[in-house]
Amino acid sequence: LFISFEGVDGVGKTTQVERLRVFLESRGRQVVVTREPGGTQLGVALRGLLLEAGTDEEGQEVDISPRAEALLFAADRAQHVAQVIRPAMDAGAVVISDRYLDSSLAYQAGGRELTAAAIRSLSLWATDGLLPARTYLLDMDPALSHQRFSGAADRMESAGSDFQTRTRQEFLKLAAQERQRFRVIDASQPIDQVWRQIQPDCEGLLA
Ligand code: C5P
Ligand code: MG
Repeated sequence: LFISFEGVDGVGKTTQVERLRVFLESRGRQVVVTREPGGTQLGVALRGLLLEAGTDEEGQEVDISPRAEALLFAADRAQHVAQVIRPAMDAGAVVISDRYLDSSLAYQAGGRELTAAAIRSLSLWATDGLLPARTYLLDMDPALSHQRFSGAADRMESAGSDFQTRTRQEFLKLAAQERQRFRVIDASQPIDQVWRQIQPDCEGLLA
């Protein structure tokens, strides 16, 4: 069983992933929790490049072109599927990923405005077609989720509110296109209430 969590930054994905892990383990399941970008050693290096590309000789932040960015996320995901997700699934574990390919559609197509069809085929090629059985989209106004940030924003998080809004809208569009796979949850609710919507749904998947 493969489950992903999606949504813009600061909606509480990591908190719900942890709850789900505890719940599934209490049901005797072996669980592998992982994330993108950065679920493998190669991925950690790519994550560093993607989020803090560094500065040039003049101290200016290095600009990553949208296509290069899309390819780096795809490389992270290809390695993630090959090295972590597939092997764990083959071993019978439940895999929970904090972000997966819908993030690329939302951020690189929605946010960066690359062609969705191209990002989709790139992502499906990178993963050899592997899709989650369930994707929980934690939905929330990015203006609100932004307030939850602590510390300095990374390159994406500081990309501006239009970017964040386009990203959110793309996530919602994806969920509407694939109703079987997605569950959209209002993430502006308290943590316990969000969890109370995920838990019974996930229980249904175990049966
Ligand atoms: O979820 P997490 O904060 O670990 O993700 C790292 C950053 O990468 C986030 O700021 C997210 O907006 C960005 N991201 C992206 N495109 C993806 C996946 C994540 O821009 N495909
Ligand atoms: Mg973040």
